[in-house]
Formats: sequence, structure tokens, C-alpha cells
Amino acid sequence: MKKINEVAGNNTTDLTEMNRSAIVRILQQKDKCTRAEIAKLMGLTQASITKLVAYLIDMGIVSEVGSVKGKGNRRSIGLRLNAEKNLVIGVKFSRHVYAIGVFDISGKLYEQSETEYSLEEKAGKVLSDMKAQIKALLKKYEKVVAIGLALPGPYLRKEGHIAMVTRMPSWHNVNFIEEFKEEFDKPVFIEQDANAGALAEWWFGNHGRPLTSLTYFLVGEGVGSGVVDHDSLLLGNQGIASEVGHISIDYNGPTCECGNRGCLELYCSTMAFLKEAEEKLPELFKESYKNRAQACERVFETARKGNETAKTLVEKIAEYIGYGCVTLINAYDPEIIVIGDSISKGNELLLPTIKRVVKERTLPEIGERVRIEISNLSIDPTLYGAAAIATDRVLRKPSEYLVTN
Ligand SMILES: [Zn+2]
Repeated sequence: MKKINEVAGNNTTDLTEMNRSAIVRILQQKDKCTRAEIAKLMGLTQASITKLVAYLIDMGIVSEVGSVKGKGNRRSIGLRLNAEKNLVIGVKFSRHVYAIGVFDISGKLYEQSETEYSLEEKAGKVLSDMKAQIKALLKKYEKVVAIGLALPGPYLRKEGHIAMVTRMPSWHNVNFIEEFKEEFDKPVFIEQDANAGALAEWWFGNHGRPLTSLTYFLVGEGVGSGVVDHDSLLLGNQGIASEVGHISIDYNGPTCECGNRGCLELYCSTMAFLKEAEEKLPELFKESYKNRAQACERVFETARKGNETAKTLVEKIAEYIGYGCVTLINAYDPEIIVIGDSISKGNELLLPTIKRVVKERTLPEIGERVRIEISNLSIDPTLYGAAAIATDRVLRKPSEYLVTN
């Protein structure tokens, strides 16, 4: 028999908090908005909105600001979210490097830093350095309300550890939930990098509202995707839903570390791209490069200058990204796919081929309706995503997390 709490209901207080959260989330997407506009967007009476807004103003979460021209040229009082009163810290953890940034809940960046570490270094040492940096920032910015941490996938979010960390065996046993649970007096929320990217695009990407479903397609050192569907991150049972990098595009293909064969990641990660580029365009790599992203950029630049070999390489990887998009469209029915991370820097060189593959391989009523874009966030989507993880969680429970008077 199913446990009764699997079909948990909502108390009236939960419902009130959900409505407050909805108002806060509308205001997060707009500079200012009137009570009447919010009432219309939420399908509630203006009297209900007035009551909910009064509470949010009282708590200092929302402020009245100037007047906004409304219906029939009538002017109404505008409302805005006091984003600057609520800061979050985002931490992006990846192989070789971690980045930490301070943002407010509108996505404004206050400061960021990057720390490189060697894979030989003990995990415990890296983590204690990271925690010390976070503590220093918490001291400097008293308005921080939560911390978001983005980890490489697949991250088992119930258990707290990363399931497969290529070339980083010492990290396999690190339990991130245990590590961060009681470290700070602020809540820490953890998700995997592609989910973080999806939240970054959802909250800070300016893709317009209303938006039903957004898929972030991460194509970099790893390949993955994150899906926000009807305002919620798609998680699955263990938090690893939408691991598109390990969907096979050739069941007889090379063996992948995950146990499958012919995984998409083996064809369109930076590693796959550069392996071929180094064979066919060795002259580009005579000079050493700082990281794979920089090496990929060299290939894109060479293609932009008209080099045929580079153009063919880029065309090939764009086709693989296109296959990935087709899978994402059939699996998640997104309104928009946003492609991000190092390979996406190929931008205009990639898009026509990706769109052609999608057109050829999906039903017109389905494929043609999906917007496919390259991420244009000015901040690294995974670091921004770490901030978005925290932002997403605090905006869902404004009374619990947001700063009050
Ligand atoms: Zn795989």
C-alpha cells in the first residue's frame, strides 16, 4: 500500500505562501509591475493580491515604486522586488577549477573568483579552502540568504555524491550534503551542472514570459541537459533525469565509462572535438593552450577565416549537437533549447546545421515550433546556475528565506 504522504495535500498556509512566491517570481522577471497586472497574470482577484502584497511590503521583500501607466491611461502604483536586499552565493565546482560568485536574486553580480586546483590534491584540502572562501564572503556580505552549489553530473542528489567523476577517483566518496549541511548558518542547495545551467537560463536568461518549458543543453567537457518544465526542474528519482550525454547514438559505438556504448558525449564533448582537430589541424596546437575551451575557440576562429578543414570539423560537431536536440525535443517537448558551455562558442557556425538536422529529423508540427538558441549569458552559465539554484529555492519560500524588516 502506498504511504499516505506520497499524495500530500496543501494547507491553507502553504497555499498563501505559494501565492506569495508566485508574486515574488513574477516581480523577479519584471522591473516593475502593478497589482492589477499581477492579479491578471495569476488569475486571482485584486483584493487577494492587495492582501498578499501588503504582507510582502511589510516584510520588506517588495516595495512600492513610482507609478506605472495602466489601462485607459490610468496610473497605478508600481511594485518592485527588493532584490538587492537578498544576496546568494553561487559555487561552481568542476575538474581543475572551482568558481565562487556573489549575486543578488535578480542575477546582478557583485564579485566572482576562480581557484584552480590539481587533481592530485586531496579532496578534503580543496573543500576546506573552498569553505574558507565562502565563510569570508558571508562575513563581507551580510545579506546573503542562501548558497547554491553546482556539481558535475551525474550527481545523486538524495545521497549527496557524484556518480562518475572522470579522472577524479578521490572525489567519488565525497558526500557533498554531509560536507555542507552544517558548515554555514545559511542553507546550501546542491544540483548538477546542467540543471544549474537550466535554472540560470530560466531565471536570468531573458527568454521572455510566459515560458512553459526550457531545456539547457550543455556541450562542453561533458555533455548533459537540464529541463525546467512548467516552472519546475525535472529531477527524476535520483536527480539525474535528462542525462542526454549518455543516450546512445550508436549502440555498436565505442564503450563509454557509464557502461553504455556510443554515448552522445563521446561524439560532441570538447575532448572528442579536439581529438579530431589535433589530428587534422596540428598547426593550431603547436602553441600550448590554457584549457580545452580556449583550444576549441582556435578551431572556431580558423573556421571563421574560411579554412575548409576547420569548417568540416565544426559542421560535424554541429550535426551531433543536432542529433542531441532531436532527442531532447522528442523526450521533453521544450519550447526553447538553449545551448551552452565551451562548444556553444561556435555560435553562428553551428546553428544552421543544428537547425537543419532538427528540421530533417522531427515532425514539422513539433520541430519547427522549438526555438533553438545559443546561450548569451554574460556570466558562465554553471556559476550563474549555482546562484540560480539558491535563487530558485528562496523565491519558492519567500517568508522562510527572504530578508525581512
Ligand atoms: Zn555514457
